[in-house]
Amino acid sequence: MLDYQTLLEKTCQHVEPLSHQGEVATYIPALAEQKKGQFAIALQTTDGKVYSAGEVSNKFTVQSVSKALTLTMALQRYGDDLWQRVGKEPSGTAFNSLTQLEFEQGKPRNPFINAGAIVTADALYSRLSAPIHAVLEKFRAQSGNSNVVINRTVANSEYQHRYRNAAMAYLMKSFGNFDNDVEKVLWSYFNYCAIEVNVVELAKTFSYLSNKGVCLQSGEQVLSAKQTKQLNSLLFTSGLYDAAGDFAYRVGMPGKSGVSGTIIAVLPGQFTAAVWSPGLDSYGNSVAGIAALEYLAEHINH
Ligand code: GLU
Repeated sequence: MLDYQTLLEKTCQHVEPLSHQGEVATYIPALAEQKKGQFAIALQTTDGKVYSAGEVSNKFTVQSVSKALTLTMALQRYGDDLWQRVGKEPSGTAFNSLTQLEFEQGKPRNPFINAGAIVTADALYSRLSAPIHAVLEKFRAQSGNSNVVINRTVANSEYQHRYRNAAMAYLMKSFGNFDNDVEKVLWSYFNYCAIEVNVVELAKTFSYLSNKGVCLQSGEQVLSAKQTKQLNSLLFTSGLYDAAGDFAYRVGMPGKSGVSGTIIAVLPGQFTAAVWSPGLDSYGNSVAGIAALEYLAEHINH
């Protein structure tokens, strides 16, 4: 049997030099305070066991990884109707591109670029009476930690510097693909991004993606097995910004990254992994995080 604990410890040693590389995100001032040289990894296997190594208790905001959970919650409520408002194709452009959105008349390419996640947040806003609370509670239930909170400093900082995301949302509104008050939806979106966890909590939150849609903490059938496979396919083609192809080639697993330097990766039927290391490459993905998942994939003979 594979010794995951030893493998994660070796992964930490392997990527330590890389954790000093890259640049931390600075476009959100509160994120610029993160220090490079930190690394943590965790995984939860489908039999419920948890393994972790590195700076496991350090907290970080989930950023774009929240997009996988808000998409899940929107699919629970709208099913395939959601795809009338957002596409399923890789974008081939930066995660915050405005030109593509203009060209394609306000329908974002996929739910993992910012415009796609903001329109998904708008859809959720229509169906939830307290959307921020509902998404936070989902993180709490699925991570198994009822004390997960939102980092208000990061949420406020993102809202204050929302110009580009606001431009995308207003552009979608001008095309008729936005139902609610733009500012209120943006505030909810930034709060989702500012939910704060450690790697163990994050791996557990997404356990349903490797477990045919059933969360290992809450026991809930979060998505059907078919929807889970569909969501994993979208993560595989579009989850790593404009570097999804490179990640698929190097790691071979569905994944989702965030600008705080975190990435989740899913090996269906086996485990959900989460890594965190704040130094980012030019695509906005964690340098050590990708290298760690590549090392992990190599050593499980996947
Ligand atoms: N909150 C960030 C933004 O909207 C998320 C970006 C990311 O992690 O890709 O700009």
